[in-house]
Amino acid sequence: MNIILLGPPGAGKGTQARKLVEERNMVQLSTGDMLREARRNGTEMGKKAGEIMDRGDLVSDDVVIGIIREQLEQDNGAGGYIFDGFPRTLAQAEALGRLLIDMGENLDAVIEMQVDDDALVGRITARSSCKACGEVYNDITKPIPADGKCVNCGSDDIIRRPDDNEESLRTRLFAYYKQTSPLVGYYYAKGDLKAVDGLANMDEVAASIAKALR
Ligand code: ADP
Ligand code: ZN
Repeated sequence: MNIILLGPPGAGKGTQARKLVEERNMVQLSTGDMLREARRNGTEMGKKAGEIMDRGDLVSDDVVIGIIREQLEQDNGAGGYIFDGFPRTLAQAEALGRLLIDMGENLDAVIEMQVDDDALVGRITARSSCKACGEVYNDITKPIPADGKCVNCGSDDIIRRPDDNEESLRTRLFAYYKQTSPLVGYYYAKGDLKAVDGLANMDEVAASIAKALR
């Protein structure tokens, strides 16, 4: 089974993707994580992408489609792919469609995670995450433990993303509404779209996703 998690920044795509990986042995393909890794590795592409990401703009389709293609060629896909943060433009959606056809794979569902904008701003500006394992924290609902160690893996490297500030979040929201939200209509017309309420708590959201995938 191959699925796309679609929704604005802060909708909880990464959190739900991690759950699906644990529970269904699927492979998470997060272009955001891949770009951050390229940046840490100091590649030329990573440096350029890093500047764009800090502003909150979208990295070019060519770059992002290229890294997804590379991953799809390397992985064997085990229990299927979860595309998290990709596609984000119509050009990316069409490229993904072609890649899947070439691999003889289907797209089984596009899960739209609906969240209102005020909630997004609140969630993102309170967010931090473990650099080692990706566990996500929230200053209000799930604070970093007093000893500073990750509840999941014990690492003390819990960081805030440089683009999780109000200004770049505005830009990310613009990018979402201008460039990514047309994908909701695109996948609806294709018959692939399932909407879930992303404002419910993490387990309820997971349950609605499970229901949408049945
Ligand atoms: P979030 O969904 O919380 O904004 P991501 O980790 O998915 O965060 O993405 C962070 C940044 O990486 C984006 O703001 C954008 O600059 C870049 N990025 C990630 N995926 C894509 C993509 N598919 N196309 C273009 N840029 C992307
Ligand atoms: Zn951790």
